[in-house]
Amino acid sequence: MSVTIFSVDHDSPAEHAGILPGETLCSINGNEICDILDYRFYETEKEVLLLLRDAQGAAREIKLRKGQYESIGLQFETYLMDRQRSCWNKCVFCFIDQLPSGMRESLYFKDDDSRLSFLFGNYITLTNLSQREADRIIKMKISPINISVHTTNPELRCRMMGNRFAGDCLRYLYQFAEAGIKLNCQLVLCHGWNDGEELERTLRDLLPLYPSVQSIALVPLGVTKFREGLTPLTPYTAETALEVVRTAERWGEQMQKQHGERICYAADEFYLKAGLPIPDAAFYGAFDQLENGVGLIANFREEFLFALEDVSSDAETHSGTLVTGVSFAPFLEELLDGLRRKCHNLTCKVAAIRNDFFGESINVAGLVTGGDILKQLQGKELGGRLLVPDTMLRHEGDLFLDNVSLKDLERELGVPVSVVPDDGGELLKLILRE
Ligand code: SF4
Repeated sequence: MSVTIFSVDHDSPAEHAGILPGETLCSINGNEICDILDYRFYETEKEVLLLLRDAQGAAREIKLRKGQYESIGLQFETYLMDRQRSCWNKCVFCFIDQLPSGMRESLYFKDDDSRLSFLFGNYITLTNLSQREADRIIKMKISPINISVHTTNPELRCRMMGNRFAGDCLRYLYQFAEAGIKLNCQLVLCHGWNDGEELERTLRDLLPLYPSVQSIALVPLGVTKFREGLTPLTPYTAETALEVVRTAERWGEQMQKQHGERICYAADEFYLKAGLPIPDAAFYGAFDQLENGVGLIANFREEFLFALEDVSSDAETHSGTLVTGVSFAPFLEELLDGLRRKCHNLTCKVAAIRNDFFGESINVAGLVTGGDILKQLQGKELGGRLLVPDTMLRHEGDLFLDNVSLKDLERELGVPVSVVPDDGGELLKLILRE
């Protein structure tokens, strides 16, 4: 396989060597280039011999000398230089299967691509990985790899993931661990399926793989109101969530004693559901599983309180309304109370947006839609502006999940809208008048 060069970076080794857009890159130092991982891996040499072909198929070789990690300077039509791989599973808990129709096309794409795991931290299930690709990951020492394990019981994994190969492909996980590749594992827990004794078994299997297994996140399944015609699943209650937290903490404490690291964590959502206080930031070590909602609240709180130490009592604040999901609202209120004790003139307030779109059992900020914000805030006094967390918006920072835009909010609510990065210190900066 070869890949067509889309453009050549200005002033790059490739441009200086006269490489042209439209040529295809076949190999680097004799290694075939199939995708971005090959390219990134093999371009790191100081001397690279490129095999190129022009549009007519004529081959030429170019030798480049450059800095060890300097980029050659080639751009390709797509970032991966290849098609993005989709998943081959039918997981009983799949959130995408519970989305209503009519949302943005990209939201229905079920990705499961090991290249994206390395490049962007996406989770992979290993079910569409070949032994050749697993060997390549080991050869290139690609690390960390984020894996959706769910259970180490092969038969149960097949059933949960609706894929008869889901059990067998766990062998890659053990191969990666053996090769010393760092692994972040995710277990989406479904009550009565992979919790209880099955969870004990999974943790018993995974934790001995430390230090290759560097973190394990226990995440509750999400159940939306659109879950029709799918396998019945029971959402977690306070009691069943408490059991999960207790299990995670018991194993975490054992790892802490043995290795000085907890490794195993229950997601914030389990603590909230169980009515337990969120642990302090120190509990979460290196925060390896923030994307899975593990330690998000503790991290945000610590950032905010750290920045608050430098705020003087005569600091001026902007008026406005901070929107968030129902589950995070009490924590945000608590942080604003801390600020209010310092700055008595604080007029910023919190608006907890109920999730009517997906159903009330979904209460995290990241799944709040623009439509729900509009419906619930229309006609309300919002102060000088609306502050919207960036986790509610797509990557480009302009649209909510339901395609409502920030401009729609500004127009309909009649206030300017500012986007807040997912950082407590940055939020404080936005509230304060410098
Ligand atoms: S791996 Fe499972 S949960 Fe993930 S997208 Fe595919 S079917 Fe859905």
